[in-house]
Amino acid sequence: MHEDAVSAPELICSAKGCRASATSALLWNNPRLHTPARRKVWLACPAHTESLAEFLSLRGFLRDTVPADTIPEGVG
Ligand SMILES: [Zn+2]
Repeated sequence: MHEDAVSAPELICSAKGCRASATSALLWNNPRLHTPARRKVWLACPAHTESLAEFLSLRGFLRDTVPADTIPEGVG
């Protein structure tokens, strides 16, 4: 299903207190909570992509970083 630009929900950065538009999506998995194929997603604006990715990678959770408009279906 494709949504046009008017009805598509706005993607907002996941960083605490940030309301900027997200440009990147960090796909992550916590092996203690999630099955291996599961992907959680954090959205990030340009200012927060690096710090959010670092937070996840330090914990070994980060799996992939993709443009916010190419988030695979079924994540979240
Ligand atoms: Zn942000």
